[in-house]
Amino acid sequence: MASNIQQLHFVLVPLMSQSHIIPLTDFGKLLAQRGVVVTMITTPLNAVRCKPIIDGAQNANLNIQLASLHFPTREVGLPEGVENLDELSMKSLKTLGINFFQANEMLREPLEKLLAEMVPRPSCIISTDALPWTNEVAWKFKIPRYSFNTISCFSLVLFHKLKISRVHESVTSDSESFVVPGLPDKIELKRSQLPEWVKRTSNDNNSHVMDKLKATEHLPRGVLVNTFEEMEPRYVEEFKKQEKLVFCVGSVSLCNTDQSDMSSRGNKASVEEDSCLKWLDSMKPCSVIYVCFGSLSNIPYPQLIELGLGLEASNRPFIWIIRKGDYSPRLEKWLEEYRFEEKVKGRGLIIRGWAPQVLILSHPSVGGFFTHCGWNSILEAVCEGMPMITWPMFAEQFYNERFVVDVVKIGVPVGVEEALTSVEDEEKFELLVTSSQVKEAIDELMDGEDAGERRKRARELGEKAKKAIEDGGSSYLYITNLIEDVRQQNSSRF
Ligand code: UDP
Repeated sequence: MASNIQQLHFVLVPLMSQSHIIPLTDFGKLLAQRGVVVTMITTPLNAVRCKPIIDGAQNANLNIQLASLHFPTREVGLPEGVENLDELSMKSLKTLGINFFQANEMLREPLEKLLAEMVPRPSCIISTDALPWTNEVAWKFKIPRYSFNTISCFSLVLFHKLKISRVHESVTSDSESFVVPGLPDKIELKRSQLPEWVKRTSNDNNSHVMDKLKATEHLPRGVLVNTFEEMEPRYVEEFKKQEKLVFCVGSVSLCNTDQSDMSSRGNKASVEEDSCLKWLDSMKPCSVIYVCFGSLSNIPYPQLIELGLGLEASNRPFIWIIRKGDYSPRLEKWLEEYRFEEKVKGRGLIIRGWAPQVLILSHPSVGGFFTHCGWNSILEAVCEGMPMITWPMFAEQFYNERFVVDVVKIGVPVGVEEALTSVEDEEKFELLVTSSQVKEAIDELMDGEDAGERRKRARELGEKAKKAIEDGGSSYLYITNLIEDVRQQNSSRF
């Protein structure tokens, strides 16, 4: 048995986007900890970001390595240096998103060449959900492919129910609520909150980038979901009716137990680890609001100012992450002229760029997470027993808000009604959230009537998350089953 496992070689292929690369790298570490060989496919610029984590894993004697493939940036007409989705603004994503997915698909040929030369021979491909073409590659090499889902079973089921019911087409306006049929809980949404590709009717032209992710001739052998069964048991059960082989293998971020892994995860942090920790150490337990909106959201300048004013008005400590894509000389000018940092001195820390998110979330001074509801971010907060303020922006983030607020009941909605779209003229931008909404949501999360119970529920869920990934826990056993499935597939079928 042990020698069989030694020979298994898992090849992991992410879409070149932070919300795919980061969890798949974590999962690679979890697999390597179980004694299999892991190769993580990347590209030169993404490899620079992943290297510290992989080096750390190798120093811990894990058999995991990076293999870098040329990313055809120039060939598909992307701007110089773009190898990751986070390098494209929402505006350019509209026109260049298709080129980006095309570049990912063009990794097929170099990947096949690499697989043919690999020692030990590859036993399976695990690739994220946006890469259906990897089914064909696996078929060619006569190995199973498993799709790694970066969203919850709740969202996967919700997508399916909307697809079959088309209930969102029965409402008369974008702002009218409808109940999603066939779910274990009453979940209400509005059409204005749905992803573009879901809103499309069958008569629309298929011009959205997601429409280009065509079904392939072959299907994945199984579906992995970055979730844990105890968090969403009824949705896992429902999802198992949709898919024949499901493995709930999360929360994968829990593999980062050491401080240096937590701080270098995904990218080089734009703040010194020690100074960030020192600042957090100086704050009272459970008092700081951590504000971060993921790796892709582009928040218009007037909206950022409004958020800043809300944080100031809250009168509480906060860490506010302003991502590279949102950062502008104009915003810096406002921060200076308004003397923002002076006004919040001693209680407000701005990080311009990339935050060491799991390191911050795991600090005892942090008491709440203001999130855009990306699934990775939500899971990372759940693992730390952290209640959240939800400000969904796009994709399936409004589904995630409903999950956090209505299903597990550990969140306070900021009250946003519609998805953020790319903004042509920032002067004409109508605020989605006002500073008083920001302040009210923070007050409600920290001191509201249900604050204590909400925090208790969040802590209990965090405990369950940790148990699931520990030796003998539900996710641990799913990973055992996955390895066994790969072993059987390799010995019996091929
Ligand atoms: N992240 C981070 N630092 C940042 C911004 C994001 O570490 O400053 C990580 C975050 O921990 C998560 C991922 O990037 O693992 C973002 O994925 P998510 O699904 O939350 O959102 P997306 O970026 O797809 O909108």
